[in-house]
Amino acid sequence: MPQSTRTVRTMCPMNCHPTLCGMLVEVRDGDVVSVRGDADNPDSRGFLCVRGQAARDIVGNPKRLLRPLMRDRRSEDAWHAANWDATLDRIADRITKAGREATALWIGHGSIANNYGVSVGSQLSARFANLLGCQYWSPSMVCWGLGGFGIGLTGALQINTKEDMAANSAMVVMWGANLASQPNTARHFIAAKKRGARIVTIDVRQTEAAAQSDEFFAIRPGSDAALALAMMHVIIGEGLYDAAFVAAHTLGFDELARHVQPFSPEWAAHETGIAAERIAAFARDYARIKPAMIVLGGSSLHKGRNGWQAARAVACLPALVGAYGIAGGGLGPRHGALAHGGGFATVAAAERRPPGRYVPNQMSEIAAALGDGRIRVLLILGSNMLSSYAEAGQVAAALDKLDLVVAHDLFMNETIRRFADIALPGTAWLEDIGCKATQTHLYLAERALAPEGEARPMQNVLRGLAERLGIADFYPWASHEDLLDTILDCPSTGRTTVATLRAAGGILPLKVSHIAYPDRRFDTPSGKIEFVSARAAAVGLPALPMHDAQPPRDATAYPLVLCHGRTLTQFHAFYDHGQALPLLAERDPEPKLWISPADAAARRLSEGDAIRVHNQRGEFSAKAHLTDRMPPGVVWMRDGWPDLNRVTSGAPVLPQAALGMFHFTVGQADYGAMVEVAIA
Ligand code: SF4
Repeated sequence: MPQSTRTVRTMCPMNCHPTLCGMLVEVRDGDVVSVRGDADNPDSRGFLCVRGQAARDIVGNPKRLLRPLMRDRRSEDAWHAANWDATLDRIADRITKAGREATALWIGHGSIANNYGVSVGSQLSARFANLLGCQYWSPSMVCWGLGGFGIGLTGALQINTKEDMAANSAMVVMWGANLASQPNTARHFIAAKKRGARIVTIDVRQTEAAAQSDEFFAIRPGSDAALALAMMHVIIGEGLYDAAFVAAHTLGFDELARHVQPFSPEWAAHETGIAAERIAAFARDYARIKPAMIVLGGSSLHKGRNGWQAARAVACLPALVGAYGIAGGGLGPRHGALAHGGGFATVAAAERRPPGRYVPNQMSEIAAALGDGRIRVLLILGSNMLSSYAEAGQVAAALDKLDLVVAHDLFMNETIRRFADIALPGTAWLEDIGCKATQTHLYLAERALAPEGEARPMQNVLRGLAERLGIADFYPWASHEDLLDTILDCPSTGRTTVATLRAAGGILPLKVSHIAYPDRRFDTPSGKIEFVSARAAAVGLPALPMHDAQPPRDATAYPLVLCHGRTLTQFHAFYDHGQALPLLAERDPEPKLWISPADAAARRLSEGDAIRVHNQRGEFSAKAHLTDRMPPGVVWMRDGWPDLNRVTSGAPVLPQAALGMFHFTVGQADYGAMVEVAIA
């Protein structure tokens, strides 16, 4: 009998943190009738981009995985349907035979599609790994972990909010940060601009943020630390710093002042490609216009071996001008960061992890362990590992050697097609209760539909395995709602519960400060902003912020710097590289490489030409997109396309001694790539 249509309040299943958007879904007869933005959501105010709109085609999609699949050889025609018990039995049997240290869990954004910020998926998978004693690595190494390391060394991991930006900033510097990555910041950025705030964008290409800015600096990839050091040179050399703040709240100013003397704007001009007089003028503006907020990029800025150095050096600037701990100042909204007072309770049970031979939280080490026999069984939960790992050719060779690869996901993807032995159907965001958090608000995402086919949520898969493996106490909660209540039982929520959140209409403000470090107690051993870091020196890193000069480009057969980032038509490799959802496939059907007209002319390329992007590590195919938004010498494409990471470097950036310094991992690979482009 047909049912009536009902509207359910939920959240978009993408994780564009710090942007998360509210969504209203109309459901009828177990199907999605429509999705639209939620005007009452205080973060997104009705905004729902094309990716969010495309989410309506997840449910009822003919390409979706709807039952467990197995195969005995890794070819496309070998898949056959299996039942859940048989697949879980086989996985548990292989884990038992391989042993816990030869078993690994790798999770991606798909595992936290309806709980980003509250981290239920990552906490549960960590709990499973901790209680079993198997390998587990943090996925922030793919994204913001390295930038967080640099900022953390300086001591400013908290952020001022976007609402604070709108109300109070007199200057906003979008430093490698783009509005396509955090659309909900745009409204506040525009409000600040309308109030008269000066807007500056620094990026390797002319972004959407650049188009809205008073001034744009096209910077050479990997040279952001050089710009920040030269700004410090000017601010200190011309006496523009806040002496009272520096004296009270920083460590190592005298050493920093001596250290930055050689880093003149003229020196930085050579490194960055930005004229010396523009660098000096920008430094003076930043010191004089108060309050000034810097919004640091989330992921792309921190790729490359200088990425953490950039984050560390840039994070020194607000301290020099006294912009930390004040309204409108400091560092603005950033992926993976919390406002002052943010954070949730943990159920990860890290204290119960048994001793073992654990593979370090470092991408190069993981790839090596997958390839040299230390890992035999790999469970991939909501991730297209080949798409997200650097130097994907090496990773593919390693995956090929594993005894068992299991994937839990919504759709097939490149990794599953090539290397999985078992593919388990995951639930969509509407098929399980969830809870998401932005930097300021907590949201309930109610279950609106029964799981399609035989899809199961991740916690049920892990529970099934835990029972078979005899892992006591993996899931002591009476229900998923009970688990959510445990994680929400913390000061930032006012110790709320799902019932209270539901009664409030599914939206509650978090008890956080819009101003980071209002107490001026920073995240360092000294409690001060550390220009000089003993922690860095202790693990063999420079005690002061540095910039490593870029190798000369002309001396290589691969003279173009490849950068990557986000557009509004994709979210990494979600939904089989976006191609499983008709709306995204139509808007973004094939990989396009942005290239400057000058570089294209030198290679006789025209718009739309089929090209080969290659270097010593590998190659991938794309179409040429000629645009003067790219400076010569740099090419760019959105991430998430198959094979893009075949050309990026998987070399480690930080020493292993540095990996345990923060609660998030910092074992990111270099991801740098110098390439050449030719007609295919
Ligand atoms: S920006 Fe788009 S994809 Fe990202 S959370 Fe909002 S609606 Fe979803």
